[in-house]
Amino acid sequence: MTTRPNEEISTKPPYIDLVYSQRWDDNTKLSIKINRHIYTEQTPYQRIDFYESDTYGTFFTLDGLVMVTEKDEFIYHEMITHVAMATNPAIKKVLIIGGGDGGTSREIARYSHIERIDMVDIDERVVRLCQQYLPRTAGHLDKDPRIHLHFQDGSSFVNQTEDGAYDLIIVDSTDPIGVGEGLFTKEFYKACYRILTYEGILINQHESPYFDFHIEEMQKAHRKIRDLFPIVKVYQYHIPTYPSGHWLFGFASKKYDPIKDHKPEVWESFGIKTRYYNSDIHKGAFALPTYVLELLKASY
Ligand code: SAM
Repeated sequence: MTTRPNEEISTKPPYIDLVYSQRWDDNTKLSIKINRHIYTEQTPYQRIDFYESDTYGTFFTLDGLVMVTEKDEFIYHEMITHVAMATNPAIKKVLIIGGGDGGTSREIARYSHIERIDMVDIDERVVRLCQQYLPRTAGHLDKDPRIHLHFQDGSSFVNQTEDGAYDLIIVDSTDPIGVGEGLFTKEFYKACYRILTYEGILINQHESPYFDFHIEEMQKAHRKIRDLFPIVKVYQYHIPTYPSGHWLFGFASKKYDPIKDHKPEVWESFGIKTRYYNSDIHKGAFALPTYVLELLKASY
């Protein structure tokens, strides 16, 4: 019997689809048809890969997990930054832990009144490769004098920082396995508390409420932060290329409540054009589904 290629998929030889696949759990996978595996490198910290695809544009993975795709990075980066900025629009000094792709600092740098952004990523290669292959998120990094890059472990950086140094800390990390593990410990959150001003806000990658592994990590992170900060909230966003598409950020603060102290008029007066974040999303993101509330409650 002659095997014929599926003409809808490929009409020209060699009848091959190159596919990147990520296992989301034992029985679920994300698969993206790619045009090209652009680059691969194993650093002392992690394996970095860049791919090119029609649907998602250029995207990169760390240890095989999707970090940033050109198609949906705006969702993650707008939600990790603007919620805090619209709660305390007077924020001037910002520390980003991780965030090597540059997307988070790009969004923060859009506020002209921000004075200083320290970005601390353990792996310089992530930053340099994103500057080369993902200018959409990293193109600004060596052009804005307010951005200071530090290549070291985020935990050691916060331990060496003086009290009250930052108005906002954003933990834009990988999952709590491998190099990212130290950024999910109580000691790390304690040090973050100490180096924040008395009006300080901490935003952290709070995992996902859907698949078992992420649920456990979400609960652990929540428990540790809740014990330290007087105001602790969780908000959600929807990002198609992360497992399940339903992800959370943590909002912890010494003074400001993201809903009671939300200042939509001030934020809107900045004239920052966004594609996902807006003042209604800000409020709505804190309204969590019942099963998520129950999971968070169960972590107490
Ligand atoms: N948006 C992404 C996500 O959640 O999938 C996060 C992307 S960002 C590229 C994560 C960064 O955290 C990586 O560049 C990694 O090198 C950095 N990182 C991991 N552990 C770190 C640590 N202990 N200190 C500083 N940076 C760290």
